[in-house]
Amino acid sequence: MAIVEPSELGESGRRRLRLSNPATLEALGEIEVASGADVAAAVERARKAQPDWAALGFDERRRFLERAIAVLLERQEAFVDTLVGDTGKPRLEALGTELLPACDALQFYAKRAKSILADRVVSTHLAWNKRLQIRYRPLGVIGVITPWNFPFVLSLNPVVQALMAGNTVVLKPSEVTPFAGRLLEELFEAAGLPDGVFNLVQGDGETGAALVESGVDKICFTGSVKTGRKVAEACGRLLKPVTLELGGKDPMIVCADADLERAAAGAVYGAFANAGQVCMSTERVYVHEEVADEFVGRVVELTAQLRQGAEGEFEIGPVIWPHQLSVIEEHVQDAAARGAKVLTGGRRNPDLPGLFYEPTVLVDVDHQMKIMREETFGPVMPIMRVRSEEEALQLANDSRYGLNASVWTRDKRRGAGLAAAVQSGAAVVNDCMITYGVTESPFGGVKESGIGQVNGEAGLKSYCHAQSIIVDRFGGKSESFWYPYSLKKFKLVRRLMRLIWGTPLGRLLS
Ligand code: NAD
Repeated sequence: MAIVEPSELGESGRRRLRLSNPATLEALGEIEVASGADVAAAVERARKAQPDWAALGFDERRRFLERAIAVLLERQEAFVDTLVGDTGKPRLEALGTELLPACDALQFYAKRAKSILADRVVSTHLAWNKRLQIRYRPLGVIGVITPWNFPFVLSLNPVVQALMAGNTVVLKPSEVTPFAGRLLEELFEAAGLPDGVFNLVQGDGETGAALVESGVDKICFTGSVKTGRKVAEACGRLLKPVTLELGGKDPMIVCADADLERAAAGAVYGAFANAGQVCMSTERVYVHEEVADEFVGRVVELTAQLRQGAEGEFEIGPVIWPHQLSVIEEHVQDAAARGAKVLTGGRRNPDLPGLFYEPTVLVDVDHQMKIMREETFGPVMPIMRVRSEEEALQLANDSRYGLNASVWTRDKRRGAGLAAAVQSGAAVVNDCMITYGVTESPFGGVKESGIGQVNGEAGLKSYCHAQSIIVDRFGGKSESFWYPYSLKKFKLVRRLMRLIWGTPLGRLLS
């Protein structure tokens, strides 16, 4: 939600923030900013609840999460109402890109955590006289800090993974969308989660910073590079594990043999869904010159068919808060001043009262422009013509970001090869923005787009410490390496090393 203004201090002495709907500009309510003491109390509650929650085991924890799915299905309409009020996004997006993946995440981790995190015995190749067992122990209390663009699912997803791994959680959702954050509290309360297992603290950066400093056992942060850097610095000082899911400037490469109808439709969806406020939205397009005119023409036609609005059926909602609108305007103005041509859009929508920016297509862009180098996070698609796939690849990799990418070609093998050559955390062939939706897929950026990964097996394990338990199998009075040392022992070890790594048989067996 939108517009956040400071209001007078509440009776409690806490700062208050006043919020309004980004589409209609109507007042939505106020929140109190949780203080450092509030955060400490929430962490304390989580700390107390954690041992019993972990002791419940996977099957019991699963029951709570499956109950949450039932609640979500029951309250779908009301939840969609709140999400639309907070963000102005189309109802279908609130349902299909927030609640649907939330149900999927709840079910996936509820079902799979037990096998993914089961204790396992690993056979040892050299230390054959030892038995190695790996146990995935919960870290304790996880602090989750989230942004406003998908305020429900981006909060729920890390929370669910942390909970299924046996941790308890303190969530600080974005101050721009606090009512969506409140939905999680409602959901877990209705699902009967024991007290203290899930804790919500509302507030802005000050509350987030307090959570980082609060003594939690890990921070899972999703947000901008700028804030991510501050969180990383604090976590470095505190020696605190941290996952950083940050911004992107995702490239789309359209090869000469692409199915242009699909590629154009994919570009329009990839750049404009959620009004372009998606970390892995298509932020820049490189199209082969042989098909550039046809591709650009079709993109402009499809963009002209998009409906922008606040009520009824529409595709493009508002920008969620004013700060983002000013970034978008600055990037488009900078591009236009440096010679870019605006084919459609390029301005705020004059017919709507809220924070609407028209879906915008730009050509004649280059890498001197902010629009090709910095995250715009709005409904803007800059398209650049390239002479070859090699040039497209070189330009795609000319970025400090590396979150996601897409490649469009009829030759899927070549497409997968090109995708693998893009410096990004993930890449997609002939589709876009699907990575977060494929629950098994690890998700996370390279370069400045982040550190670590969420989702899938790797994500779930990141909420645990893999503790190794090594048990000696055969006993005996001593081990060959123990004291006393002697020249004889030295020669024995040397011979052994030659035998193991210096002979084909040794290499085979080791
Ligand atoms: P932001 O960095 O401004 O805020 C994110 C969260 O951090 C908010 O809850 C905010 O209150 C909190 N915060 C602010 N200052 C803090 C501090 N000093 N310490 C701790 N917490 C603090 O980001 P935003 O504007 O809310 O979200 C948009 C950004 O998020 C974009 O860059 C987008 O690409 C990125 N994003 C990334 C992913 C991903 O998975 N990689 C997903 C969605 C959004």
